[in-house]
Formats: sequence, C-alpha cells, structure tokens
Amino acid sequence: MGIIGFLTDKLRQLAAPDWAFGPTLIAVRNGFLLCLPVVAAGVLAVLVNNLPIPWYQEAMTQLFGENWKNFGGLVWQGTLGIITIPTLAGTSYHMAMQHNHAHPLQTVNPTIASMVAIAALFIIIPMQDSYGGLTYWLTTSGLFVAIIVALTSTRLFLWLVGSERLRIRIYSEGLDTAIPQAFFCLLPGILTLLIFALLYGIFFRLTGNSLHQFVHDCILYPFGIIQNNINTGAVYLFITHLLWFFGIHGPNILDPLTHGMFDTALQANRVAEAAGQPLPHLITKQVLDVFVSMGGSGSSLCLIIALLVGSKNNNSRRLAKISLVPGMFNINEILLFGLPIILNPIFLIPFICVPLALMASSALAIHFGLVPYPMQVVEWTTPPLLGGFATTRGSPAGIVLQLFNLAIGTLIYLPFVRISDDVKTERQKKAMSKLMDIACNNQVGPGGKKCLDRDDEVGVLARVLAYDLQTALTRHHEDAAGLFLEYQPQVDSKSGRVMGMEALVRWRHPSYGNIPAPILVAIAEDGDFIDDLGLWVLRTACKERARWHEAGIDADLKTSVNASVRQLMNNRLPKVIQSCLEEYRLKPGMMGIEVTESVAIDPEAPHTRILQQIHDMGLVISIDDFGAGHSSLIYLKYFPVDILKIDQALSRDVVHNKVCSEVITTIVELCRSLDIKIVVEYIENREQIEVLQDLGCYIFQGYFYNKPLGDEQALAYIQSMNE
Ligand code: C2E
Ligand code: MG
Ligand code: MG
Repeated sequence: MGIIGFLTDKLRQLAAPDWAFGPTLIAVRNGFLLCLPVVAAGVLAVLVNNLPIPWYQEAMTQLFGENWKNFGGLVWQGTLGIITIPTLAGTSYHMAMQHNHAHPLQTVNPTIASMVAIAALFIIIPMQDSYGGLTYWLTTSGLFVAIIVALTSTRLFLWLVGSERLRIRIYSEGLDTAIPQAFFCLLPGILTLLIFALLYGIFFRLTGNSLHQFVHDCILYPFGIIQNNINTGAVYLFITHLLWFFGIHGPNILDPLTHGMFDTALQANRVAEAAGQPLPHLITKQVLDVFVSMGGSGSSLCLIIALLVGSKNNNSRRLAKISLVPGMFNINEILLFGLPIILNPIFLIPFICVPLALMASSALAIHFGLVPYPMQVVEWTTPPLLGGFATTRGSPAGIVLQLFNLAIGTLIYLPFVRISDDVKTERQKKAMSKLMDIACNNQVGPGGKKCLDRDDEVGVLARVLAYDLQTALTRHHEDAAGLFLEYQPQVDSKSGRVMGMEALVRWRHPSYGNIPAPILVAIAEDGDFIDDLGLWVLRTACKERARWHEAGIDADLKTSVNASVRQLMNNRLPKVIQSCLEEYRLKPGMMGIEVTESVAIDPEAPHTRILQQIHDMGLVISIDDFGAGHSSLIYLKYFPVDILKIDQALSRDVVHNKVCSEVITTIVELCRSLDIKIVVEYIENREQIEVLQDLGCYIFQGYFYNKPLGDEQALAYIQSMNE
C-alpha cells in the first residue's frame, strides 16, 4: 500500500495545476483540446478513406469514380496535415490568457501572441529536406518542435511585453481597441521574432541541422545501437509512446525505421517458412499492429474499455463512447487529444506499460506455439478480432490472444482511470465551491458579470452549467430536465398550522449532481435567462399549488417564490404572473413573491413600481433576508410589504447575543405599527423559538420544523399539520 499510495499521491500532485510547470502543461493541454474539431474532421477523413471493407471500397469507387479518396485527402490536408499550426496557436493563446489573468494591467491580445508564435515556427521550419520539408513537418511529425516553439516564443514575447520601455502607447479615439493593442505588442513582437531568428541561426551554424531534423535524429539514435529483434520492438514501443506523451506522432516519425526493420523481419520469416525452417523473428510489424496497438497507440482500445467500465466521470465516459467507433478501426486521435493523454502525467505509465506488456504476452504466446506466427499482412485499420483472425490465416487462437490482451490492457489501465477520476472530481469540487462563493457574493466583474466571463476553471464550469440549464429550460419547458421545486414550511408556532410554503428551485445536473440555488440564479442572471428560470419556477409553483388546492388545502396558505432584482426589472412580470394565476385558476392571495432586502433599498428604482403592481394584484410581498445587509427600517414605508423575513444573521445568535435580540425587538415594534407580519428564518432549535416568542415573533421557518420538501412530501406535511 505504501509504495502505491506514494505513487498515487505523486501522480495527483503532478496533475494538479499548482505545481511549477502546471500552468505550462495546462496551456499545452488546452492547446490540444482547442484542436479537437480539426482533429475529429481529419480522423473522419482517414476513416472514410481507409475503411478496410472491400465491398465498401468498391462501392465508393463505383459511385464517385477512381479518385474518390481525393475528397478525404483534401480534408486531411487541411486538418491533420497542418495540425502543428492550430496546436501551436492554441497553446500560445492559452499562455497569453494565463498571463492576462495574472497581470490584469498588462493584458495582451491572445490572438497576437498566437500569430507571433506561428511566425516563429515558420522562421525555423525547413521548407525542403529529405523528409519532405514543410508538408511533412506541419503534420503530427513536427508537433514536438512546434510545442517547443509555442512555449519559448510566447514566454519571450510575454516577458518583453512586461518591459515598460518597449511599450508604444497609442490612445485611440472612440471605442476601437484594436489599434492600441496592436501598438502595445508591436516592439515585443518584432523583438521576439528577431531574437528567435538569431538564436536559430546560431543553432543551425553549430549543428549544421534544422531543429526539426536534430530532434528527429535524436529520436532515431537508440535504434542504431540495438540489434536484437525483441529489444528493438520494446525500444520502438517505449519511444513511440513516450513521444506521444509529448504530442509527437511516434509511428509517423519512426515509419522509415518500422518499414526497414519489421518488414525485413516478416520477409525473413516468410523465407524460413517456405524453406521449412524455424521462423527467426518473433516481433514483426503484424504483431505490433494486430496484437499490441489495438485501437491505436497505447493499445487505446483497452483504455476506452477501462473508461467505459471503470470511470465514474460522465465526461470521460462520453469521450470513450465517441472514441469507440474510430478506435475499432485503430484511430485514436480523438481520445489522445480529448482526454487528453498528451502531457497527462497520470496516463503516462499505463500508456507506455500496456503496449510493452501486450508485446510480451504476444511474444510468449507465439514462442510457445499457442498462436501461429502472424504471416498475413492486414490493413492497419482492420478492427481487432478480425485482424487477429486474418493475420494468423484464420486461426481462432489469434482472436483469443487479442481478447486476452484486451483484458490485460484494460486491467492495467483501470487503476489509473480511477486516479484520473479522483483528480477531476477534486478539481470540480474546488471549482464548484468557488462558484458558490462568487454566486453568494453580490460583486460583479469588470464585464458586468459574476462568473460567466471568467477564463479560469470556475468560468468553464459556469459556462457548461449555464448552457445546460438554458437548454433544459428551452427544450423541455414543461418538465425542464432535472429542474424541480422543494418547499420549506413557514409555521405559526401558536396554532401549529402551516401558513405558507417557500418554493426553492433545485437542479439535478446529469454530471455534476445537485447544483445549489444561488449558483442557478447567478448563471441565469449572467446568461440573461433569469426570466425564463423565474417563469419556470412561477408556473411550476402555481401548478403544484393548484394541485394542493384540489387536495383540500385552504386558500389562505400561500406559496411564495423568490424573485431576483433582475426579474423585477422586467415590465412584463405582472402580466406573466396574472396569466399563470388564470391558467391554474388560483386566487392571488394563494401566491407570494419574496424579494431580497438589497433589492428593496432604493425607493426610486423602477422595480418599486412593478412590485407595487404585483401587490395591487393581491399577491403577498415578503422582504427576504432582512438583517443580512444594509438593513434600513425607514424604507419599509416606501414599499408594499406584507411580510418581513428576519435573516439568519439575526436569528441564529438570538439566544446568546443581546444585540440581536434588541434589533429584533425594534423590528417587531415597527412592523406592528405598519401592520407587517414577521417570519423568522433559520430556526434550528427550540431555544430560538422560546426567545423569539418572548420578543413577539410567532411564525418560523427552518430546519427545526422541516428541511425543504418535495412536492408530495410538502402536501403530506401540510395535511398533517393543518388537519
Ligand atoms: P432564501 O430565499 O433566503 O432561502 C432560504 C435558504 O435557506 C434555502 O436555501 C433554505 O434551504 C435555507 N434554509 C432554510 N432554513 C434553514 C435552516 O434552518 N438552516 C440552514 N442551514 N439553512 C436553512 P437554498 O434553497 O439553498 O436557497 C438559497 C437562496 O437561493 C434563497 O435564499 C434564495 O435567495 C435563492 N433562491 C432559491 N430559489 C430561488 C428561485 O426560484 N428564484 C430566485 N430568484 N432565487 C432563489
Ligand atoms: Mg426566500
Ligand atoms: Mg431568506
């Protein structure tokens, strides 16, 4: 347990964004993630062109002619064919965003940072060389160097931006922000590219090589030393997978080598077979393609299965489902970019170990004669099981070995899937509690929003939730997916009867579980659909109140719904309420509106008129959370208030705190003279009730009576208390 616990902890720390290289890793990972649409289109093109089904290939030729693959070729050319550029630009963009977050007074336009990085790449990229020049290095083969360029050029650029002397300030007339931003970055941009060209010139002079070729040669170096077939296989697998971790398409880079070594091995085996001699090579390209790289590099089909059976994270499972079909044809870019595997320390170990383990098991099975030597060449896109059967010339043992390997690989991946889940859950929890803090705090950012425009994990979470909430409200208006109301009783302690029910909105999100009400309100306000949410709450509360009425609940019990400031700004609100009342045939006194105290402090504001209209319609108006903030009793006389709800800030400590009880006494006296009822919130114990009754309060709401209840339970509770 000791060593496993230690390793698990270390992996978690590495995956956390707050270690030294965390932000850089995150920028690179996000750069890859931004490319997902481009990658997915490329993958689709590869799949369409290479589906290893003879009748499909024939049908496509018949339908679209000999050159039908040109279409997929074009898509590939614009996507995976130039994948270095979007990856580099995305990484650079994220680095600039991180910089902006840390230095709000020196913000740079992230697009300019990306463009400088692209220019830097083109300074060093070989246009022509023995590998194919530009077109070769723009594919995944050039990704590693592209990432180095993104990191170094952007770091240099941002460092230069920080220098006071290099800033040219141009103040634009009007609102055009492009001009000052462009000039702000002018000198740092020029200097970055000049320094880049100079350093690269020195490098070229010293090594006589382009950086691309230099890195390439370093990667191929170990293969010059080793001779043995099994060792070569192991080193090949180790290097290709280590390269993938850094975002480099290892199989592409090592392609000439694979052909040279592993094809020769297959040929030698064939010659020996024809001569009736023992076969000299265990590891051929067929063994690696068919029995090891099932689903693509990292034997990623095993990872897909591990995610499907072992992951509790809905997003990871969804990604696994999306990756399953291309994975069946051994194409795994969506998984590698989407999970992502690249620069993800948690998956580094299994991503390298699984292929090595599968190579070992395959070599043993073939060596001991359990599975025939794979002598038949099959297309690399041939799905697993079919491939095992075909390459062993129709031996079921080939299928069994693939199944066995899939099981081993999945078992190795499973614990890492769990660790990854834990890390994600921890991050989600942190982001959710930060979002809750922001939602409860009434401050808005410079963009006029509380959370939706933040560029950190909290902002991402807020945007996902806002999108899903809006979709739930617009697509399934009647039974908005996951949304429901709970009701908390307000009880008259003298008679023991329930006087009212406060409707509180709840949302069970399919991935994130129960989302607290203040977050819903904050994202709906930020996203400008608070009116839709409010309408849903109002209609549902009316519908359920009408049902309670049919079940025999007296008309004097009112259901109150909360309304935020923004809702009260809407001139149409009184009409909307009216039509809800008519639709469910409710008397206005059966419903109420709770407005927080902060809303009520401005008697001149337009919402006062709207509140007055709602009051005139006969609804009960409550001032919520009184005592929580800027309590000012004087305003009560400007407002059509029926009920004042005393907040926890006063009610929690009333038993021990004399100031609280004195403030409450004053409120009670004033309310008595203004004919305003008092409801005290957050009642959790009997002592509170006794002290508050002595102060003249009789209606209470809180966990002492009941927590918020579902619709059915609420009805049963009212029936039991009011019979
Ligand atoms: P609120 O209107 O003051 O609602 C009372 C909150 O206090 C509820 O939390 C309730 O569950 C909690 N509470 C009640 N009694 C006790 C108690 O004895 N102890 C403790 N610890 N908590 C108690 P909830 O549901 O999380 O709602 C939080 C706030 O979100 C509400 O404060 C309200 O301002 C807002 N909200 C809820 N539903 C809606 C809605 O439909 N529309 C709008 N605009 N706001 C809503
Ligand atoms: Mg309330
Ligand atoms: Mg309240």
